[in-house]
Amino acid sequence: MKSRRILVMLVALATAAAVAWMWHDRASPKLGTAAHEHTAAILAKGPRPPGSPALDAVRGLVRADLEKSGWVTQGQAFERMTPVGKVAFENVRARFSDGTDDPWKRPVRAILCAHIDSKLYKDRHFVGADDAASACAAIVVIADFLARERPEQARQIELVFFDGEEAFGENITPQDGLYGSRHYANQWRARDDKPAFGILLDMIGHRNLSIRLPSDTPPHLKEAVFAAARAEGAESHFGMAPGPIIDDHVPLNFAGIPTVDIIGDFTRSGWWHTPGDNLKIISAESLDISIRVTLRMLDELLGK
Ligand SMILES: [Zn+2]
Repeated sequence: MKSRRILVMLVALATAAAVAWMWHDRASPKLGTAAHEHTAAILAKGPRPPGSPALDAVRGLVRADLEKSGWVTQGQAFERMTPVGKVAFENVRARFSDGTDDPWKRPVRAILCAHIDSKLYKDRHFVGADDAASACAAIVVIADFLARERPEQARQIELVFFDGEEAFGENITPQDGLYGSRHYANQWRARDDKPAFGILLDMIGHRNLSIRLPSDTPPHLKEAVFAAARAEGAESHFGMAPGPIIDDHVPLNFAGIPTVDIIGDFTRSGWWHTPGDNLKIISAESLDISIRVTLRMLDELLGK
């Protein structure tokens, strides 16, 4: 009799656990799932190195999605000599507007950015799912969320999608790579209405999410990331890299806009800059964590 009662209790517990799990699953990462879908749509255009028709198509896709949720977009075109000759680059900028003012004429307090190009490889199929299609997708989802839920915050932010982050050679050097962010940051350098801070997302959607901030992260932004991660119960996914990292935040910091690079630990990923960086390594749960932490940071730094 006793053992039957225990059995009934166990069955009841198991049922409750199953129901809880199903509920959790259903309540699960809406924003992350949306970002996963956007990542897939970007990757469907194929490799997107600077100057390619595929990159043009991806810019068009991102701009159309942003405009659907009330953002006004603008291309920022420029040319540079590179190790493969002269290349035409184009950043994409976006600001939020309800149509009552010119969004480009008011100051913004924050920049939220990612790189939209994928590294050029002639000998392999490289689509850069987490480097950095997933970050662009996350920003599109964040932009849609802010437009609906935080329009006042949206008005204080400029979104930027940098072209030419990747070097044409093996590694980024002072002459090769960061083309878009260097051009963009230069436009701010001499202005006195600079945004107060920037958030750069790069490799933020991989399974078993592991984010490592560069060691030279501005201290108050490092605090803001870790506080947001704790508030979201995601602190186990966040840590510090052993040294500085060369990425699109560097020209922004140099131009006087303190910027944090929320970047995945590419040194131990195994797939970084290989054909393994494809949709299979992208996780809606990881994307959801990165999106929620970013939104929480914006709440803290800009006010709800
Ligand atoms: Zn890369």
